This record gives sequence, C-alpha cells and structure tokens, in this order.
Amino acid sequence: MLKALYVHIPFCSYKCPYCDFVSLVDPPVNPNDYIDLLIEEAKLYSNTDRRIETLYLGGGTPTLLEPDQIGYTIEGLDRVLDLSKVREITVECNPETYRKKDFKRLRSFGVNRLSIGAQSFTEKGLKALGRKHSVRDILRCYEEAMEAGFENINVDLIYAYPGQKPEDIDRELELLERLRPEHVSAYMLTPYENTPLGVSIKGGLIETPQEEELERLYERLWRGLKSLGYSRYEISNWSLKGFECRHNLVYWSVEEFLGLGVSAWGFVGGRRYGNTKNILLYAKAVREKKKPVCEELYLSDADIFEEFIMLRLRLKEGLPHSFRGLIPHHLWPFFEEGKNGIGIREEFMLLSNEIIAEVLVYNSHRTLSEVRNG
Ligand code: SF4
Repeated sequence: MLKALYVHIPFCSYKCPYCDFVSLVDPPVNPNDYIDLLIEEAKLYSNTDRRIETLYLGGGTPTLLEPDQIGYTIEGLDRVLDLSKVREITVECNPETYRKKDFKRLRSFGVNRLSIGAQSFTEKGLKALGRKHSVRDILRCYEEAMEAGFENINVDLIYAYPGQKPEDIDRELELLERLRPEHVSAYMLTPYENTPLGVSIKGGLIETPQEEELERLYERLWRGLKSLGYSRYEISNWSLKGFECRHNLVYWSVEEFLGLGVSAWGFVGGRRYGNTKNILLYAKAVREKKKPVCEELYLSDADIFEEFIMLRLRLKEGLPHSFRGLIPHHLWPFFEEGKNGIGIREEFMLLSNEIIAEVLVYNSHRTLSEVRNG
C-alpha cells in the first residue's frame, strides 16, 4: 500500500557544479505543461491501493514555480490520488527564490514543511560549492518563511567541501543556534564523477578533506548538533523532538511510495522503478498514457531482507531487538541498544557503510520472513 508521494520538479536557474540530480536550466517542456503531465502520470496509478500520508515536492528547485503553480499541482494530485490523509507536505526551497507573500500563499495550499537548500552558512562554503546565493539570502529566506507561519523547517547543509576546516563547522553551528530550525540534514559532499566538481577532485585539481580531517569535521558537527538539542535519527538527519521527517521515514522503513516526474523513483507493489531522466521521453510516454518507467526491479524475499537491513541500520533506532542475532559478535562494539532497537553508535557513523556491508555478508543466506518467523 502506498504511504507517500514524491514529486520531482526538474527546474533550476543554474547548475551547481556538484549536482547529480536531474535539473534543467533551459527545459524543453514549460512548467505548466510539466505540471499537467505530472497529473496525467498520477492517473496511471489511480487504481493502486493507497493511503498517502506525506507529500514531498523536491527537485531541482520547486520554488522556481509560482506558489499558485504549486497549489495547482497539489490540488490536481489530490483529485486523482486523494491526499485527504496527508499530514506532512514538504516543499524544497532555494534561498533566493521566495519572499514572505509567496510563503504565505504556499501555506494556504496546506504546505506545512519547508526544506531550505542553504548548504552552508559561510560565504567560503557557498563559494566552494558554487552556490549563487549568499548567507544573507538564507537568513532572509528563513526569517520570511517563519513570519509567514512555517513552524517546521529543515535546513540542508553539505560538509567536507574543498577547504573546509573544523572551525568552519562552528560558524554553521552558530547560525543553527540562532535560527533553531526544527530539522537539519547534513550530507557529506559526494564528488560524483559526472559533475564538474567531481571531475576536478578526481583529476587532483581540487582537494577535499581526507580521513582524519573528515573525522574531525564530522565529530565537531554531531557533537555541536547534540549540544544544541538535536538528536540524530538517521545517518545524515537530525531533528528537534517530534520533528523527524515523516516522508523520509517511509523510505527508510521500506514502505511503498509513489514517485512522479522525470527521474523519480518509486516502490509500488513490491517493485522498485525509476522514471526516465529525459524530459522529452517522459512527456512522450505520459502523453501516450504509458508509465515513463525505464528501470524496474521486482524485489525477491532476499532483496527485501537486504534493503530492510540496509535502510534500518541507517536509523538511530536501527534493528528491532528481536533481530539482535543478525549482528556478528565482532561488530557489537560498534552498536548500542536503545529503548526501541539496536543501532550503530554515533561515533562510528562514518564507518556505517562498511559495518552495514559486514552485517549483510554475515546474513547473506537469510530472508526477512525467515527472520521474522524465528
Ligand atoms: S539547486 Fe539543487 S537541484 Fe538545482 S542544480 Fe543546485 S544542487 Fe542541483
């Protein structure tokens, strides 16, 4: 049963040098037509069993659309898929796009969560990441969103950018302390090889922090966030109590969700699928009333087990207590048992990929139903 809906808005006013998302600066399909295509694509799933509780508009830059275009999108999707049970609607927002009146309009369509793509609270960080907004833009955006009534705001940050020092993390923390967003997503910079920044890093033209420096950055970050009252509930996500992102929890709990739009991913009827990344092929398929899917994978019991372990171990709560036998003896020092489960200790989060891989190898002969049935 579908629990969440993701909608990809692939428009941006410029391309960031590290960005691997499908985002188009000069799209061959205009935004109004694209919105109509999203609603047509939704119709292709109108017979799917669902109780949608979260809606997430990501991108790209959804706030390149006018607030009324976002409202039209939400209303159109509601008519087709019934969003009456939705409790969380998030819109990703770039700091230089909306003003207070726009945020107010957005609120009037039921949007109750904003995710601001700040990326850094230092001019040094913004420059290293090739962002075109300033720290002032972020502060103005944040304050105007609050004045418009947003009470659940996420700030996206990227750390381990070229030239970042541990003391730069302190500046990020100072502004987080001042603003006190309800949620912080802090991702380590990934130098994708198909991006200009990735090419420069791979070619040795630009250096990013390595090992010990990386550990120092991460430790400064998580200790700082903890001292500000945030708790980490997923590898890269922290929140104040009660403000965990419901939408992302659907992904990490291996529940089903619908993804609409060019390049969107979904998990429907035990099948993971990916839409085409080409907007013209996307438009053609939807106009012909075909699902614009270009990749799909039916998950076997063993695949579901693997995903369950992988995704649950990203969460602080980790695996249910009844799954403790899945953790090999030599890995126990990396884990801790909490009230609700067994998760990887905060100080070993940078090793989480390696730890999860070892847990998977240790359990490679099992399936989820076998484990659940003891
Ligand atoms: S604003 Fe976001 S989606 Fe757009 S190019 Fe930059 S990182 Fe990519």
